[in-house]
Amino acid sequence: MATDYYTALGVARDATPEEIKRAYRKLARELHPDVNPDPATQDRFKEVTAAYEVLSDPEKRQMYDLGGDPRGGGGAGAGFGQGFGFGDIMDAFFGTQSRGPRPRTSRGKDALIRLQVDLAEAAFGATREIAVDTAVACESCHGAGTAPDTQVVTCTMCGGRGEVQSVQRSFLGQVMTSRPCPQCQGYGTLIPHPCPECSGEGRVRTRRTLTVKIPAGVDTGTRIQLTGEGEVGPGGGQPGDLFLEVVEIPHEVFTRQGDDLHCTVSLPMTAAALGTTLDLETLDGTEPIEIRPGTQSGQVVTLRQQGTHHLRSTGRGDLHVHVEVITPTKLDARQEELLRELAALREEEKPGVQQGNVAQSGLFSRLRDAFNGR
Ligand SMILES: [Zn+2]
Ligand SMILES: [Zn+2]
Repeated sequence: MATDYYTALGVARDATPEEIKRAYRKLARELHPDVNPDPATQDRFKEVTAAYEVLSDPEKRQMYDLGGDPRGGGGAGAGFGQGFGFGDIMDAFFGTQSRGPRPRTSRGKDALIRLQVDLAEAAFGATREIAVDTAVACESCHGAGTAPDTQVVTCTMCGGRGEVQSVQRSFLGQVMTSRPCPQCQGYGTLIPHPCPECSGEGRVRTRRTLTVKIPAGVDTGTRIQLTGEGEVGPGGGQPGDLFLEVVEIPHEVFTRQGDDLHCTVSLPMTAAALGTTLDLETLDGTEPIEIRPGTQSGQVVTLRQQGTHHLRSTGRGDLHVHVEVITPTKLDARQEELLRELAALREEEKPGVQQGNVAQSGLFSRLRDAFNGR
């Protein structure tokens, strides 16, 4: 006659499923044949396993509590794992969850699209329409994958468990292994009549047009997340997200550095000496800039708040205008005469040499930047 199952596991008659599982796991670790191969321990292991088989199953436990023997008289002498859910014992040993059938419905993948924007769109933001090739839920079957008026049926090979088991020899002795059912691919169900629209996938490929708001201040590499605008998952599952990665098209005049913009203006020598007002084309339209008398080549005129908008705060970057003074190259006789007269007036006909250190002049860093292509 078999020992009382509760006594075998050392638990109270009103033990919770969690307590039973914990008790079995502890005993199984001590008594497992691979740990302790002597025959007495093996008998004890079989007894404990038989007890767990019954007490871990609510139906069998109730039958046992009412005086029946749910193991059909096999008793404690029954072979290891006989009539016993392999998933349960693996669970008890290794803490793994029994997998069970996998759902037909799962979340769709995220998608990434590169989006080219020009400088004005990046600076001020924009609304754009973009076409996306993606998967949407099948309208014919609403994601179920079944043809109209048909249903999924339980898989005959695995009985709906989604996995099939086989016995293999290994260093642990005979081991039950389970693998996804080849007939239903692990779903536990079959679709005898697939939806003709989506071939049972629950979703169809299509081209969709989206209206996208590009926030002001984006730059190359900025990602805009559109939650739920990715592809619908298999079986009509929850859609993934769509990410737009901004690629800014270089502007022919303005170079962007963070949220600041840089450009150059070329100025005749006379205008640089006398001073003038220039009409500069900025992102905001025509903007007058004042060139003071005596402006040098390389001087920078800064227009505050004329760069791109900041992405995460209010305000804007600046626009830096780099002045380049142009020395005249072709002089007619009259111009040359006037310049010589000016030079004489300024006593500059034979200027003295004023040598300086290139590193202190600012010229060196400009040379270096030009050399490095900055
Ligand atoms: Zn369909
Ligand atoms: Zn199956």
